[in-house]
Amino acid sequence: MRASRIAASYGARVAVAESGRFGGTCVNVGCIPKKLFAYAAHYREDFEVARSFGWTTGEPSFDWKVLVANKDREIARLNGVYESLLTGAGVTILRGRASVVDAHTVEVNGARHAAKHILVATGSWPQVPQIPGRELAITSNEAFFLEALPRRALVVGGGYIALEFASIFNGLGVETTLAYRGPRLLRGFDAELGEHIASEMRKKGIVIRLQSNPARLERGIRITYEDGSTQETDLVLFATGRKPNTAGLGLEGAGVKLDREGAVVVDAYSRSSVASVHAIGDVANRLNLTPVATAEGMGLAKTLFRNEPTPVDHVNVATAVFSDPNIATVGLSEEAARASHGAVDVYKTSFRALKHTLGGHEERTFMKLVVDAASQRVLGAHMIGPDAGEIIQGVAIAVKLGATKAQFDATIGIHPTAAEEFVTMRQKATS
Ligand SMILES: Cc1cc2nc3c(=O)[nH]c(=O)nc-3n(C[C@H](O)[C@H](O)[C@H](O)COP(=O)(O)OP(=O)(O)OC[C@H]3O[C@@H](n4cnc5c(N)ncnc54)[C@H](O)[C@@H]3O)c2cc1C
Repeated sequence: MRASRIAASYGARVAVAESGRFGGTCVNVGCIPKKLFAYAAHYREDFEVARSFGWTTGEPSFDWKVLVANKDREIARLNGVYESLLTGAGVTILRGRASVVDAHTVEVNGARHAAKHILVATGSWPQVPQIPGRELAITSNEAFFLEALPRRALVVGGGYIALEFASIFNGLGVETTLAYRGPRLLRGFDAELGEHIASEMRKKGIVIRLQSNPARLERGIRITYEDGSTQETDLVLFATGRKPNTAGLGLEGAGVKLDREGAVVVDAYSRSSVASVHAIGDVANRLNLTPVATAEGMGLAKTLFRNEPTPVDHVNVATAVFSDPNIATVGLSEEAARASHGAVDVYKTSFRALKHTLGGHEERTFMKLVVDAASQRVLGAHMIGPDAGEIIQGVAIAVKLGATKAQFDATIGIHPTAAEEFVTMRQKATS
């Protein structure tokens, strides 16, 4: 979307081949419907908290079909908006599955199209482990279109998609188990985030099984784990990773190098081993987030059609996990900072948000700053708590600019907020 629209605005003649719906994964089966579902799920708690502020709400009830229908209507609207953005920019739309024939030829529906440049932006696809009964499970792709909510669900995985769906199901009243083969959730994130979120999600009623991996599924659905233990559930969702969408694309035949995961190997300018073929987004498997994909697309359009070689800077990209509570992070985890910088100062705090003080709600907000001991630059900021994504987005600017801890401290907070804690943490936790 972004690469073609911007390239067209720079005067390139552009065609887009799309086999699915406009907007890609994010709009159709990713970020947008996921966040709408997360909002829906959080109302359960909001109704409870409202009572502590004097509201009588009656017994709330939830209608899954209404949520899905309203979500589908909004997504259909967005599909139309995206399509008209393309046509409005003068981009030709080719509906169908594309494959690459050679360095300058793409085939769509049997018709061949010659191009000076080819951009592969085919995204990624959920991976399901090769275990007996895997066909009984679903992935995030199907979760957005379930006919009905199950009574019980097992979500398998420990990454952001698994945590988000476990929180969504749990919030909507499904008895939810989260099973992850590793010792701690959110591998690659700051270790304390993984620990704290597990404790918060457990408090909200999710059963979390760590070092626990399904070995077999049988109709019912009966799960047998690798350790021999069993469980019955009504729905199994695998959120066990995604693979770059390059199968059957013809890239290897055209001489384009793929890595072991199947991702297109690219340089900093998103150029593949074939000079006229480029790749951006999940299919290049650098940092698989929508704003990163669009930045890569924008950079490529500038590089190719504006004579402005623009590499994409993947450093200090902020990201959020829309679990309940939310998680957001920018920069280095404490572990990564210690590995790359040696001595680091760590500041952290954990508290009950003001909103939860009247009702005795148990949720705790967690915040952490990781600071380079030598330069005092803030290397990482991490948070678990309401609106963590909204808060970390602002903090990310400071981290990107290389702000020091003293500069954070010199910033006067907004009171009373949770965010002000990021500029008032004075006590070093460890150093
Ligand atoms: C459940 C879920 C939640 C997510 N939540 C977030 C989030 O909150 N924030 C965030 O930043 N990221 C999120 N992501 C990740 C984000 O969706 C991806 O990083 C982003 O969509 C990648 O964009 P892309 O352009 O590379 O690929 P995609 O968005 O996957 O687009 C690829 C497009 O190519 C089309 N296509 C594929 N093969 C062909 C072919 N051969 N011919 C023609 N068309 C083809 C597909 O139909 C699709 O429209 C989420 C992902 C998932 C699955």
